[in-house]
Amino acid sequence: MATETPGAGALLALLREEGALTRAELATVTGLARSTISLRLDALAGAGWIMPADGAVSSGGRPATAFVFNPAARVVLAADLGATHARLAVTDLDGRILAERTDDLRIGDGPEKVLGWLSGEFPNLLGPAGRRLDEVCGLGLGLPGQVDHGSGRPGPEAKMPGWEGFDVPGLLGERLNVPVLVDNDVNIMAVGEHSTDPQVEHLILVKLGTGIGSGIITGRRLHRGARAAAGDVGHIPVAAAQGLPCACGKIGCLESVAGGAALAARLGVADTREVVGLVLDGRPDALRLVGAAGRAIGEVLGTLVTFVNPSEVVIAGDLAEAGEPLLSGIRERIGAVAVPRTTEHLAVRASHLGDRAGVTGAARLVIEHALAF
Ligand SMILES: [Zn+2]
Repeated sequence: MATETPGAGALLALLREEGALTRAELATVTGLARSTISLRLDALAGAGWIMPADGAVSSGGRPATAFVFNPAARVVLAADLGATHARLAVTDLDGRILAERTDDLRIGDGPEKVLGWLSGEFPNLLGPAGRRLDEVCGLGLGLPGQVDHGSGRPGPEAKMPGWEGFDVPGLLGERLNVPVLVDNDVNIMAVGEHSTDPQVEHLILVKLGTGIGSGIITGRRLHRGARAAAGDVGHIPVAAAQGLPCACGKIGCLESVAGGAALAARLGVADTREVVGLVLDGRPDALRLVGAAGRAIGEVLGTLVTFVNPSEVVIAGDLAEAGEPLLSGIRERIGAVAVPRTTEHLAVRASHLGDRAGVTGAARLVIEHALAF
C-alpha cells in the first residue's frame, strides 16, 4: 500500500469545503472504511473541530448522521500594523471578526516597544469577544515592509528602524504562548481580499497609501518571491518620475510621483488623507496631480496585468478614497498598456474589505496553518 490514506486533517478540509457530510458520504469521497471514518470523526469531535450538523450532541442516544466544521472551536489573533496606525482583531476560524480595535502607533518606535504594546493589548480584546487566551490557535501579524515569512524577521525598511532581522515571532510567542506568523502588510491584504471570493484564481491587490505596494495571488496562493520582495511595484521606474529621488535611494520610482507622501509634499499638506480631502473638494491642482498619479500607476499595472493575467485588480489603501479622478487614470492606462486578451474580462475594482483587509488576511494565514494537519 504505497498511497497515503486521508487522515483526520483531510476529513476536516472536506467538511470546511463541502459543508455538512455524513459518514457514508465521507466514506464515498475518501474511499476509507466507515469504521476508520468514525474513529477520525470521533477524534475531531473530541478536539472540538467538528460538531453534529443538527447541533444535537446527544439527542436521546440517536447518533448524529452528518457533521460540520465548527468555526468557534478556536479563535485567532490578528494585527495589521502600518507606519502610524494599528488595527487589532480577534476572529473565529471562518475569519469572522469577533472583536477589534484601532489605535495610533508609531512603527518607528522599534520592535520592543511596539510588540510589547501589542502583546499587552490582545488579552484585553479577548474579553469583549468572550474568549480566553488558551483558546487562541495563533497570531497573524502584518508589518509595513518586507518580511521573511519563514522566520518572521523583517528585512531592511527605511520607516522601520531597529526592526531588520528582529525575531518578531520569538518575542510575541514568548509573551502570549501562541504560534506567530508574520508577513508583509500588502501580502496579507491580498490574502484577505481573496478570501471574499476564493474561487478567483489570479488576483493583484495594489495598496495606494503613503507608499505603493502590491500583493499577488496566483493559482489561489500568495506569490512571495525568492526574497519576499515580489510585488514591490512602488519602486519600479516610470517616465513620469524621471529625475525624482525616492526614499529607497533610487531615482525615478513610481512612488516618488504617485505615492501619497509625494503627492502630499507637492500639494503642501500633511498626509494622504489630506490629499484625498483636496480631491473630494474639487481643487484643480489636486485633481490634476492625482489624475497624473493614476496614469503612472496604470502604466506599471498594465505591464503587471500582461505578466500575471489576473481576473481582478483590487485597488486599496487611503489614496484609493480619491475615487474616480484616480481610478479612471488607472483603468485608462491599464487598457492602453496591457495586451488586449488580458483585459477582456479584467475587473479593476475597489477593495471589498477596505481597512479590514489586513486583519482578515492575517487571520486567514493562521487559520490555514492551524487547520493543516
Ligand atoms: Zn524607490
